[in-house]
Amino acid sequence: MLTKTLWLKSPAAVFTGNSTNADNGIVIQGDKIVELVAAGETPTTPIDSYIDCSNQVITPGLINTHHHFYQTLTRCVPGALNKPLFPWLKFLYKVWQNLDEEMIYTATQLAGLELMVSGATCISDHHYVFPKGLENAIDIQVDAINSLGCRGALTRGSMSLGESDGGLPPDSVIQTEDVILADSQRLISRYHDRSDSAKIRIALAPCSPFSVSTPLMKDTAALAEKNDVLLHTHLAETEDENNFCLREYGMRPLDYLESVDWLTSRTWLAHGIHFTEDEIQRLGKAKVGIAHCPSSNMLLASGICPTVELQQAGCNIGLAVDGSASNDCSNMIQEARQSLLQQRLRYGAELITADRVLGFATQGSAKVLHWDNIGQFAVGMQADVAVFGLDELRFSGVGSPLDALVTCGAHQVDKLMVAGQWVIEDGQHSQINPQQLIEKHQQLAKTLQSKVSM
Ligand SMILES: [Zn+2]
Repeated sequence: MLTKTLWLKSPAAVFTGNSTNADNGIVIQGDKIVELVAAGETPTTPIDSYIDCSNQVITPGLINTHHHFYQTLTRCVPGALNKPLFPWLKFLYKVWQNLDEEMIYTATQLAGLELMVSGATCISDHHYVFPKGLENAIDIQVDAINSLGCRGALTRGSMSLGESDGGLPPDSVIQTEDVILADSQRLISRYHDRSDSAKIRIALAPCSPFSVSTPLMKDTAALAEKNDVLLHTHLAETEDENNFCLREYGMRPLDYLESVDWLTSRTWLAHGIHFTEDEIQRLGKAKVGIAHCPSSNMLLASGICPTVELQQAGCNIGLAVDGSASNDCSNMIQEARQSLLQQRLRYGAELITADRVLGFATQGSAKVLHWDNIGQFAVGMQADVAVFGLDELRFSGVGSPLDALVTCGAHQVDKLMVAGQWVIEDGQHSQINPQQLIEKHQQLAKTLQSKVSM
């Protein structure tokens, strides 16, 4: 098969995500990167066409490791504003129990497009609300991701402990353990793609260890092991959670996680903030992945993820915007900036650099998702590329374009490529009209929010 070659030529700056030099651009053939061109060099591969990127910065497509797409329908809902995690959740569950199929499809498209416009080529979602009539939520999400042309790491979430069992969510959004496990197996068999060119992968993801029963946590770990898929959940987001866990289980969250067979490299955790030094060492030894969510953690005043200690201990750190009810926007390149600002408060200006936070958003996230052929520019990797323009007021006068991407606050791509195909050009998605999508999404959000008294 002959496939034409394309050279992204002479960018203003390139972030490769590794120690190699591609200062004069990258060459793409088919769905792969076939050559990195060092400063002052020209490609050795015969070139069919090129794009001059001299006023643009190119990075590997950004990878979001944690989100709740349905929450785009409940951004800034008045009854949930200015509340810490638990009361915030209790209010919003009453809204979310009314989600339907059209809402989940539209919310997935909207959040996905929002992420893609901000540079993301691979997006993970954690969906755990399955009210009656929405049993096929993940199938609907697969369709929505396919319509966007990006990659999706979709997680089959679950909740089995409702209010009547002492849990937080209303009984109307929980499912029985048998239903959850059978659907998890069905989704893995149907959609989990292990191939080199995979667009969809499935992981298993109880909402939190405290919204499902102990047997379900253990059975989920066993099912993931049997099918060789990943495990995902929220952990150590707040001190409230530590107290809740000590009261209910007589142990801290990480001890509980270990007791249900989840302290393994198969697991990635959203947030990962409130750990002791000993716990950080145990997480690192087990090579657990962490989805670092700086905006959400600041908005809910949850705390600061100890990324440096976790990384030193052996954990992979990926970046995530978290759900739109606890961040309100889904912008990956802006999230890298948030990480830089927040982490500098803890670790200082010298250690926390643009390279470091872009590393979280690219190869760090790829490692968290065990998605080995994305997240960096290297020969043989999938051609997922974000192209950010510097032709804006905010960039005028920059000395280092790569640092400017983070500190001047880039917020949208000029172009986005997934598997060698342009899916966004001139800031516009090739298939989706954003105005029509916004109109539909706003109508559905209004309907959903009207179903509960604020
Ligand atoms: Zn979350």
